[in-house]
Amino acid sequence: MLIVMKPDATQSDIDRVVQVIERLGFRGHPMPGESRTAIGVTGNRGSVDPTHFENLPGVAEAIRVTKPYKLISSDLRPGRSVIKVGNATIGGGELAMIAGPCAVETPGQVFKVAEVVAASGAKFFRGGAFKPRTSPYAFQGKGEEGLKILAEVRDQFGLNIVTEAMDEHGIDLVEKYGDCIQIGARNMQNFSLLKYAGKTRKPILLKRGLSATLDEFLLAAEYIMAEGNYDVILCERGIRTFADHARNTLDISIVPAIRRLSHLPVIIDPSHASGHNYMVEPLARAGVAVGADGLIIEVHPCPEEALCDGAQALTPLQYTQLYRQLQTLHNSIHMEEAIHAPA
Ligand code: PEP
Ligand code: MN
Repeated sequence: MLIVMKPDATQSDIDRVVQVIERLGFRGHPMPGESRTAIGVTGNRGSVDPTHFENLPGVAEAIRVTKPYKLISSDLRPGRSVIKVGNATIGGGELAMIAGPCAVETPGQVFKVAEVVAASGAKFFRGGAFKPRTSPYAFQGKGEEGLKILAEVRDQFGLNIVTEAMDEHGIDLVEKYGDCIQIGARNMQNFSLLKYAGKTRKPILLKRGLSATLDEFLLAAEYIMAEGNYDVILCERGIRTFADHARNTLDISIVPAIRRLSHLPVIIDPSHASGHNYMVEPLARAGVAVGADGLIIEVHPCPEEALCDGAQALTPLQYTQLYRQLQTLHNSIHMEEAIHAPA
């Protein structure tokens, strides 16, 4: 059930609808949009009788939802969501750049990259303190010590920190030190973790699972939102296919597919999608061209010495050049769109 409020509905009209939803034993999720607020209803197993709402003040219509997802849907919020991450935003026209090393290794390594990322004009810094490694013997990340280094990056460079959590304790720690909690590809269907993330107040960067379909990806976001955290950013990071010339296959078609169904911002990770330094630039350009709201890119001061994902890391110089190129491309696409937009 989706309850669409009239454009002139007041806050008390909205509160009243939520109260009625709660009295029925369900949960109401008000989503303010550009022209009106819609209220999603979750927790109901069968259909809800629309007559409960039809005659309440401020209600335009009560619509039955037949799709498997409710809160991620453009039906609920026809415009695009703009998500606040620290002191900046993702979605809504600007191209967001999240850049930094795969893993936090040492303060020196992290600060070298942070200086370059801040100087480029990017507003977000990445770096893993908890690393999901295929081998249990590989470097697993520096844990809380790594998060403290990232918090210093925010203080010194004013960059907003995006970093992965792999379990509930990790979520608590990232909530304390970071600005955005990344849920990695391998955890996209860790439903108890998704629910826990839904109870936090920090935005969530949700990466697509290695073999997740569009519906599975959107329903994973729905898990987070159903718990009351509506600040979800989706990330396409490549999927497993038969192709073996790249680490994964970047599925750029998911960007328009998501934008058709959902109001959530979607970003591209050309680093994990390719696994190769030389592919990052062309795939990043493809991400901008296809309409992504941003990119997340790995950068290392000395890629050959990286403890994790060195082969796909850009050097600081490559990153700086790419950043300029992508902003120029993004601006020219938007100028074209503005010229061709109906008056
Ligand atoms: C990462 O961003 O470092 C990472 C491990 O990503 P993914 O979950 O997409 O593999
Ligand atoms: Mn990595």
